[in-house]
Amino acid sequence: MTLWEASLPELEAWMLQRGQPGYRARQVWNWVWTKGQPDPWAMSDLPKALREALAAEFSAPRLVLLHRTESQDGTQKFLWQMPGGGTVETVWIPHEGRHTVCVSSQVGCSLNCRFCATGQLGLERQLTGYEILLQVYTLRHELGLPITHVVFMGMGEPLLNYSAVMQAFEGLVHRMGFSPRRITFSTVGIPKGIRRLAQRTEPFELAFSLHSAIPEKRRALIPLAAHIPLDEIREALIDYCVRRFDWVTLEYVLLDGVNDGEEDAEALRAFVRKPLQAKVNLIEYNPVPGLPFRPSQRTRAFQKKLLQQGLLATVRRSRGADIAAGCGQLARHVAK
Ligand code: SAH
Repeated sequence: MTLWEASLPELEAWMLQRGQPGYRARQVWNWVWTKGQPDPWAMSDLPKALREALAAEFSAPRLVLLHRTESQDGTQKFLWQMPGGGTVETVWIPHEGRHTVCVSSQVGCSLNCRFCATGQLGLERQLTGYEILLQVYTLRHELGLPITHVVFMGMGEPLLNYSAVMQAFEGLVHRMGFSPRRITFSTVGIPKGIRRLAQRTEPFELAFSLHSAIPEKRRALIPLAAHIPLDEIREALIDYCVRRFDWVTLEYVLLDGVNDGEEDAEALRAFVRKPLQAKVNLIEYNPVPGLPFRPSQRTRAFQKKLLQQGLLATVRRSRGADIAAGCGQLARHVAK
């Protein structure tokens, strides 16, 4: 087992088996999760023989930083070699006192959304729970960056790697001390996964990447939509809202001349009818080389139309686009 996966009761049981007092487990736990020191040899308040036994029993694989880039706007992008193989990116976004980490949940992505750079990569493999968690851990403890929020909006579809993503979530909350309120899952719309999230009681946030409320248009943008009717996703979102007394966020990337017209705003209005409780987050499109889409020129007009229709609608400004760290730009290209 790795030190990242060991629970406190497991560490306690392990200590007791070795005739050690149970509090030793708490000491190890504090080294790993509070002090950010996973190397048993550095755990200076443990007896030497115990450090040796710990090192023999528990490994602590690390992420290897391959590349770090900083945007004009302060956003930073990190490319890591994963312990289980493959490379992924993580983005750190400072904004008005918030420091958000955008984590990847898969190596590549299987969805192939037409407007997204990550979609062009295909899926290489699933990340493990601790490989997801270590993206946040490494930024905090090795690079010393402040972190207030975590969003599952990097490479991959979190709800197609559900158990690992929930392990990472639990690690963020119970090991690293994040409030669930500051953690957001973003999904292309996997009804089964949304219904599983709906059963949970922690107050995390859920965002659904809608991008068009007109089914044919959505299918043209998101190939997976051909297999999952929009109504079925809407039903799952309603289940989520009703069970949790909660809201969801609808992410909507505005593509010039594609989904930014009057009929699109009206379809969106119809999608957000009761009992669905949703607010809309309009996202500026980050151009991807080789793809035919352009950012909409009608962002404000579209937002205004939604507001006039009585919807809650905000605009998410693009961050880190100059270093390809924006939404949908993560393709592991290393800038020269
Ligand atoms: N697979 C999940 C997590 C990815 S989150 C999901 O689909 O929600 C990344 C968000 O950025 C998604 O809403 C995605 O649709 C959006 N996106 C993809 N490409 C983009 C681009 N080029 N510009 C802006 N947003 C993009």
